[in-house]
Amino acid sequence: MNARLKFLIDCSIKRLTRAHQACPSCGSVKSTTADRKYVVARLERCLECDLLYRTPISSAEEQARYYQDAYKHGFTTDLPDSASLTELKKNRFNGTEKDYTERIQLLKAATGDKRGRLLDFGCSWGYGTWQLQQAGWDTVGFEISKPRCAYARDKVGVNAHDDLDAITGTFDVFFSSHVLEHVPSITSTLAFAFSKLNKGGIFLSFIPNGSEAFREADYESWHQLWGLDHPNFLDDKFFVRQLAGRQSFLASTPVSGDAVKAWAAARQSAKGDLRGSELVVLVKV
Ligand SMILES: [Zn+2]
Repeated sequence: MNARLKFLIDCSIKRLTRAHQACPSCGSVKSTTADRKYVVARLERCLECDLLYRTPISSAEEQARYYQDAYKHGFTTDLPDSASLTELKKNRFNGTEKDYTERIQLLKAATGDKRGRLLDFGCSWGYGTWQLQQAGWDTVGFEISKPRCAYARDKVGVNAHDDLDAITGTFDVFFSSHVLEHVPSITSTLAFAFSKLNKGGIFLSFIPNGSEAFREADYESWHQLWGLDHPNFLDDKFFVRQLAGRQSFLASTPVSGDAVKAWAAARQSAKGDLRGSELVVLVKV
């Protein structure tokens, strides 16, 4: 069955049974409706933890099954044949949507150009892990989908695991690109990330921007970004609360390297322009 149609039917059944309404992150049932689509799906703002989440929610098991086989997202999930992979590597992914040049520039600005151990959390088939490795980091990838993880390891040639327990030791960088919007519990994922980071380490994440500033600038694009594929719709409001007491930088891309360098030196939290479609979350531990 078409994934979107199945999603609609599942939503309707869950709506009727009133199951799956609680916040997937903190379990609270107190929320306000922030947006709606397809009649049955709603975007709720948790009144306890400030998470924007889609209801009806999916269980962790439903999500794990979905990402094993059904999840399709073009370049992100399609595994290239060997000739294409050789070509992509030769061109260092230049000109593709997975060209990490700008992400790497941001990371260099945040780390003061230092290298170290980096965890690429949700690495898909390894295109980013490979580029980060080429840029000098000692990379480890984590990917929940076994076929994509096996491809990253066996074809792309990066160190990657599909089991979280296999991620041992600590890291200087926790990196994730378009992953946190998919995870079943965002607070557990953040707790995992910070437990893995060394003192002085950098958390860098790119996600669809749920922020009010983007909603006001372009409601239609904002409205498109939550739903079946994105159960969490993360925004500055949620992160300000979650990251209280930590040095954070929240902005939407493009972010200037100079702004990041200034933030890293200042030892205090900062916010940039949040009107773009992609949110950048930087934390210095
Ligand atoms: Zn909550």
